[in-house]
Amino acid sequence: MARSEMWNLWHGCHRKSEGCQRCYVFRRDAENGIDANRVRKTAAFDLPLRRNRRGAYTIPAGTLLWTCFTSDFFLEEADVWRAEAWQMMRERKDLAFTIVTKRPERIRQALPADWADGYGNVTIYCTMENQRRADERLPLLRSLPLRHKGIICEPLLGKIDFRDGLGQWCEHVTVGGESGPQARMCDYAWVLDIRRQCVSAGVSFVFKQTGALFRKDGRVYHIKRRLQHEQAQRAGINYTPQ
Ligand code: SF4
Repeated sequence: MARSEMWNLWHGCHRKSEGCQRCYVFRRDAENGIDANRVRKTAAFDLPLRRNRRGAYTIPAGTLLWTCFTSDFFLEEADVWRAEAWQMMRERKDLAFTIVTKRPERIRQALPADWADGYGNVTIYCTMENQRRADERLPLLRSLPLRHKGIICEPLLGKIDFRDGLGQWCEHVTVGGESGPQARMCDYAWVLDIRRQCVSAGVSFVFKQTGALFRKDGRVYHIKRRLQHEQAQRAGINYTPQ
């Protein structure tokens, strides 16, 4: 597996939809007396371009950088910083960048002038946590000029019918339950139903984690954080099209 790292360019966010209700950014910031609604550039903003004393990049070629784990890449406040972010991705073609957003409606206007159908090293995932957000966001995501795009259903909060909207345009679907205190229920039947739709459309699928409150065959399980990924792996239902 490729080496991966987080790249938090900016910090802070605004709740956007149901999946944001128990957002850990708000929880952790509140514990530290910080207002999570205040969006600010972080000290790690220029991470991909940093060099060591020998002049080599500190992030080695081949690394996968997951962006904005404590924000959303397409927030309005970040409009003024994004051109520089795109420039860094252009400059580090030897890295892969992954962006996860709940704001697909803001993507088109935020793309750089030389984007065409996308940068080869950038993948954009859109989060769809329930039927309402899938109905709203899937058609948007599908219509965008993104060379690499996919769907994340995490935290999965209900059954989702993609209404035959999946297809080769979507490279991957990841599903997972909700973690943390007061986590909401994830039902294994919802997970299996999304997997079925992925298999039928020939789209790769990963069941990433069960979440803290997991229902299977009508029985509810409270699953410790350290076991949530392991239990999902054990289900053995990941799917890669041949
Ligand atoms: S978009 Fe992401 S970071 Fe922002 S409030 Fe929602 S869950 Fe939190």
